[in-house]
Amino acid sequence: MGELPHKYEVTITTATEKHKIPDNVKEEMKASGLMDEKGKLKLKGVSPKMVKRMKEEAVDCPVLKSEVGFIQCFVCSNFQSRITGKVLCKGDAL
Ligand code: SF4
Repeated sequence: MGELPHKYEVTITTATEKHKIPDNVKEEMKASGLMDEKGKLKLKGVSPKMVKRMKEEAVDCPVLKSEVGFIQCFVCSNFQSRITGKVLCKGDAL
C-alpha cells in the first residue's frame, strides 16, 4: 500500500519540557469529542499507557516552527500517520 502524500517526515523525540495543549486546540478537541469537558483525553484506540508515553514525546513542528507535544501533533489536521518514530505531516499552513 502506498503512503499518502505528505510534505514532511517529522522525527518524534522525547520532550525537552512538559507541553501543554494550547487552549484553542483543547476547544477543537472538545468540539470533536477527543476531550471531555474536564479535559480528559478521549483518544479512540489509544490505551492509557500509550497516552502516558505520548505525553512525554514531542516533535519539532516544521509548520509551527516550534517544539509541540506529540498529543497536539496527533490531533493536528496535518497529521497523517505515525511510522517508525516519525510523523507523516501534510505540512499545510495552520
Ligand atoms: S502534524 Fe501538525 S503539529 Fe505535527 S508536525 Fe505536522 S503541522 Fe506540526
